Amino acid sequence: MDERGPPPPPRVASKSGDKNGTSASSDKKEKKIVWPFGRKNQVKDRPEISSPVDFEHTVHVGFDPHTGEFTGMPEAWAKLLLNSGISAAEKKKNPQGVIKALEFYTANSSGIGDGETKFMTAQRYGGAGSRPSLSSDTFTPLAPVRPAPQPPSGESPPDIPPRPPATKKSDGKIALKPPIATTSHDASSANQASPATEQKRQKKPKMSDSEVIAHLKQIVSVGDPTRKYTKMEKIGQGASGTVVTAMEISTVQQVAIKQMNISQQPKKELIINEILVMKEIKHPNIVNYVDSYLVGESELWVVMEYLAGGSLTDVVTETCMNEGQIAAVSRECLQALEFLHANQVIHRDIKSDNILLGMDGQVKLTDFGFCAQITPEQNKRSTMVGTPYWMAPEVVTRKQYGPKVDIWSLGIMAIEMVEGEPPYLNENPLRALYLIATNGTPELQNPEKLSKTFKDFLTQCLEMDVEKRKGATELLQHPFLRKSAPLSSLTPLILAAKEMAGKH
Ligand code: ATP
Ligand code: MG
Repeated sequence: MDERGPPPPPRVASKSGDKNGTSASSDKKEKKIVWPFGRKNQVKDRPEISSPVDFEHTVHVGFDPHTGEFTGMPEAWAKLLLNSGISAAEKKKNPQGVIKALEFYTANSSGIGDGETKFMTAQRYGGAGSRPSLSSDTFTPLAPVRPAPQPPSGESPPDIPPRPPATKKSDGKIALKPPIATTSHDASSANQASPATEQKRQKKPKMSDSEVIAHLKQIVSVGDPTRKYTKMEKIGQGASGTVVTAMEISTVQQVAIKQMNISQQPKKELIINEILVMKEIKHPNIVNYVDSYLVGESELWVVMEYLAGGSLTDVVTETCMNEGQIAAVSRECLQALEFLHANQVIHRDIKSDNILLGMDGQVKLTDFGFCAQITPEQNKRSTMVGTPYWMAPEVVTRKQYGPKVDIWSLGIMAIEMVEGEPPYLNENPLRALYLIATNGTPELQNPEKLSKTFKDFLTQCLEMDVEKRKGATELLQHPFLRKSAPLSSLTPLILAAKEMAGKH
């Protein structure tokens, strides 16, 4: 009768150690790393990612394998590198990877001017100290690169604490501009520094509050939502606003309402993006948009369906999922991705935090702020967004990419379901980027514990070669998914996660 089975074993300890680490857990907004990159998308009828802005300097950075030092490196980069935990041997092994990581990390940080540079001193991330080193004798003259923006404001970032409960959702999101043409592999002499050149980039002005509000007025419903919804209770705090539950008076249905102050949004265009996409996209595996309103002078309320089970992050960090449960969640997510990709939408921020669960085990994808709409003619993107630890190598190394970046991130999310967190989560983000660029497909902690078919599924998702990486439709045929347990088997996990959260 009860197909749910026994309650799951709680996750005793993650590989990150003390889960009760409470450093910097008082204010979510402070912990959320704010990457110094902005995506500047001009909003037309459909969301679209714009081309880059500002000026760029190009310098030549070289690497001397004898001294193990970079030459011609901008001071701000040298500082970041010093605090990154990237070892001398790692620099030697893949100096180009170090540069890629630095480029990625710092790109777009100049000229944004909306406070996002506070990332540089973000609480959660920082120098992880020296690490076990890799050895290699590779000599690599490096390509001309873009230097970092202004150096961080003095203080060195602190060590990275383990993933404390309150930071589970606080991973930084990256929005970058496309790589510039001069970042090609220009192998000049190792320690040669060429004169800096300057590139002018097309300027696209940011939208002002009033422009955003004017645009939103065309999208949202007219009226006062407080007359339509009642019993509002705060359930969460995100970077962009507060989430409350409420009851729709006419239907007695429970909904979730995300309340955002428009003037406080660093990337105002993203909220328009999110609404436009959510409005059009309806699928059983997607958190459905119900309505939106402008409230008062500058508040935006987005009404959506309420999922009482919390996020998949709570489940992966607090409990151990079996392969049947992992297969079931993977299948549901793939169904969402198949639908999105068929509609030319790339989500670009697939991770457990963005999967919400119903108490009955429904699995739904949310958070469309970063998604991109592609057209069949223009089906590749090079703007980089997402959360670094879940990012596909082709994104990190600034290549063009398509919908398969979501498949990679799903593979990383499957690792979360096994190990409780994505690879490199405890690394300084710069080193994490380096490791993604250098190692490609990450290794599992205990591969022997997984079935052959599950490992094959992971290998397919985490295929480096984008051409070989399977799409959502194909992966839905993977034999691993035949292991799927009923969705109701997720309920005990959700309950256990809630109980554990109560104890923290
Ligand atoms: P942001 O999306 O602004 O970058 P965030 O993802 O950290 O930040 P929100 O999406 O605002 O935060 O969500 C805040 C909290 O509310 C999270 O714990 C999330 O799980 C919860 N939440 C969001 N939407 C819903 C929903 N539709 N049903 C139930 N809980 C939700
Ligand atoms: Mg969110």
